[in-house]
Amino acid sequence: MTLTSGETVVGVVGGGQLGRMLGEAAGPLGIDLVVSDPTQNAPAASVVSDQIVGAFDDESTIRALAERSSYLTYEIELADPDALERISEETDTPVHPHPETLRLIEDKLRQKRRLSEAGIPVPAFRQVDSAEQLRDALDELGYPAMLKAREGGYDGRGNVPVHSPEDVEDAVAAIDGPAMVEEFVDYERELAVMGAVGDGEVDTFPVTETIHEEEILRETASPARTTPEVRARAKEVVRDVLDVLSGRGVFGVELFETSEGEILLNEIAPRPHNSGHWTIEGCHTSQFEQHLRGVTGRPLGTTERRAPTVSTNILGDVEKRQRATLTGETAVFERPRAHLHWYGKREVYRLRKMGHVTLVGDDAAEDDDAESAEDILADVRTLRDGLTFTE
Ligand code: ADP
Repeated sequence: MTLTSGETVVGVVGGGQLGRMLGEAAGPLGIDLVVSDPTQNAPAASVVSDQIVGAFDDESTIRALAERSSYLTYEIELADPDALERISEETDTPVHPHPETLRLIEDKLRQKRRLSEAGIPVPAFRQVDSAEQLRDALDELGYPAMLKAREGGYDGRGNVPVHSPEDVEDAVAAIDGPAMVEEFVDYERELAVMGAVGDGEVDTFPVTETIHEEEILRETASPARTTPEVRARAKEVVRDVLDVLSGRGVFGVELFETSEGEILLNEIAPRPHNSGHWTIEGCHTSQFEQHLRGVTGRPLGTTERRAPTVSTNILGDVEKRQRATLTGETAVFERPRAHLHWYGKREVYRLRKMGHVTLVGDDAAEDDDAESAEDILADVRTLRDGLTFTE
């Protein structure tokens, strides 16, 4: 491998915050990034070599990206697996993870079926194409349950809780398309593990606790505040999940820990994931560097944690869509071991992911000490609560 700048170009479908953080990781590896995104000056634009403006599933955009790239990847599930597969073959540009993986994951029902067939523990689920089918399914699964759009949902949009038979009609109408229903998991906590697949190598990052509110990820803490046995089981399940998927790169695997200490799979993202942002400062290799190593077939880096680490999302807190002006960030800059990540989005609206803050704890903490994340979590929440958006 020769490191001549510009020799390895990775084309990324999607130029949001994930594309931006991939761009930040690419430079030191001698990799140039080109992204495609429908929004001009997308968050990634200022840190990558170039942005092609075009829809995620637009053939000519993907072709233009492929023609400039040594490898293709994607940072959003709205990328089109058929177009990616075809153009990858026509232009002889490898795409990772394999489009077949994207095809499987973009449909939550197909995903759950395939994983369940492979013996991965998942919540009980049924296909739902009508109110009648939902009613029948819930006669078996019981109430409450979660109705999910099969495609296109993110950050909880596309999920509707169903508490009683009276909710059935409205829930089906709200989804308005192909759906699946899942038993409501009475989980103890949510966990996530970033899996990494290289050229003949497989690895997992340390287990992370994910804290959601209104179905949106607020904070992540690693180590997760659970037992070593549960963490070991979570990693075991994720290794089995990676066996089902094809292609290289990182995969975000979201899990539930039930009150009995069992692990159930929630869903997979075939790309870097919000639950892995803490790895930028918290691990020796970040999820973004690891993804690029995987996609380009370079050896994977170690997934070891440097120290207990917590991240919090900075979410929009204004009702009206407006220019994004953050205040209160001085406290983050002043705090040793706190790191601000600003995504450069021009406009803010309620619950939009605008950035994140990571706080790294004491290197001397026992690596497996579940309580070690507790104090850092409280501190990072204080830092975050001091951040607000103003007009
Ligand atoms: P998205 O694809 O929008 O991220 P998910 O299906 O991952 O949606 O759900 C988002 C959140 O909703 C989960 O992190 C969890 O908090 C909650 N959730 C999803 N499915 C269930 C379920 N079956 N039981 C309980 N809570 C759930």
